[in-house]
Amino acid sequence: MQFVDLKRQLEHLRPAIERRINDVLEHGKFILGPEVQELELLLAEYCGVGHAVGVGNGTDALVLALMANEVGPGDAVFTSAFSFFASAEAISLVGATPVFVDIDAETYNIHPPALVDSIAAVMDEGRLNPRAIVAVDLFGMPADYAQIDLIANQHNLFVVEDGAQSFGGQLGDLRAGSFGAIAATSFFPAKPLGCFGDGGAVFTSDDLLADRIRSLRVHGKGADKYDNIRIGLNSRLDTLQAAILLAKLEAFPDELAARRQVATGYNERLRDDFVIPEIPPGYRSAWAQYTIRPRHGTREEYRRKLAGHGVPSAIYYTKPLHLQPAFADLGGWEGQCPVAEQCAQSVFSLPMHPYLTMEEVDRVVEALLG
Ligand SMILES: *Cc1c(COP(=O)(O)O)cnc(C)c1O
Repeated sequence: MQFVDLKRQLEHLRPAIERRINDVLEHGKFILGPEVQELELLLAEYCGVGHAVGVGNGTDALVLALMANEVGPGDAVFTSAFSFFASAEAISLVGATPVFVDIDAETYNIHPPALVDSIAAVMDEGRLNPRAIVAVDLFGMPADYAQIDLIANQHNLFVVEDGAQSFGGQLGDLRAGSFGAIAATSFFPAKPLGCFGDGGAVFTSDDLLADRIRSLRVHGKGADKYDNIRIGLNSRLDTLQAAILLAKLEAFPDELAARRQVATGYNERLRDDFVIPEIPPGYRSAWAQYTIRPRHGTREEYRRKLAGHGVPSAIYYTKPLHLQPAFADLGGWEGQCPVAEQCAQSVFSLPMHPYLTMEEVDRVVEALLG
């Protein structure tokens, strides 16, 4: 059994993918070819936003979102203490300072009351200028944007949605990618919508921000690429990756439904022994990961049982961001974000992908409970 089974996905989608790749080989427009724009229009429509801009990867998508808003040295950017490294790395890359905020133990997303406290602490200290919030939709479920937007408005902060794991997720009628002033996603192969290499996108309904992103992804180009009006990056979504994504996007709604079925299968049988993912009313997860923690015993015992039955498992994440060595100079300490620290010590994730059969779900459950 695979944790994420891209081979099985390829078995299903191979003819469509090969057709799309072949088109690109024929026309030869490898950089910003027609597939990129075709995909951008479909992505914007899917997410219900004005603009989607294809970029090199999810990390660059976050960096570009911050660059477009001129975030830089002296700025404090609040983000979740429990995420993939890139959520905070992007903040440091533009020269700003990440401020780590504790999470909610049920949703694994940023805890709004902790966010209020962190903003107050930065204002009291008076050293940094509170500028933005990078809210992460961890494991595929959107963060609490109603509360986050309220807090952001009170303090004149802008919100960036890190939707690297949540493409396809929903809050009410709104899709992931539509939250905040600007959103970022990743098409890394293992994400809900993945390509066959690196890729990402920035989403916004703000025309000015979208124009800036389109300039920034091509070295800060002006009227043409030899007219440079700002310092940017070389970060475009490859035409070949866009072609692959176009084929995969067609299957995506069915895949999302299949992921939901897997999650429901796990939920029904694991809730007595594990803290299962809590999806509050109105929310829909994209089920990038199915993450649980044991009610009794340690995750190591359970992971050993799984391994004994040939079932892979993984830990996202073993270390909260404020305790990462790369951020040591920010002076993070143990006890700073106790919920994130506790989750880092107890969570583990089960195989999750749309081509998992119900028999395989049964095997995972039996390996865990047996
Ligand atoms: C994967 C991921 C990223 C970075 O995306 P890449 O495409 O790998 O650069 C950023 N944030 C989160 C939460 C992620 O899971």
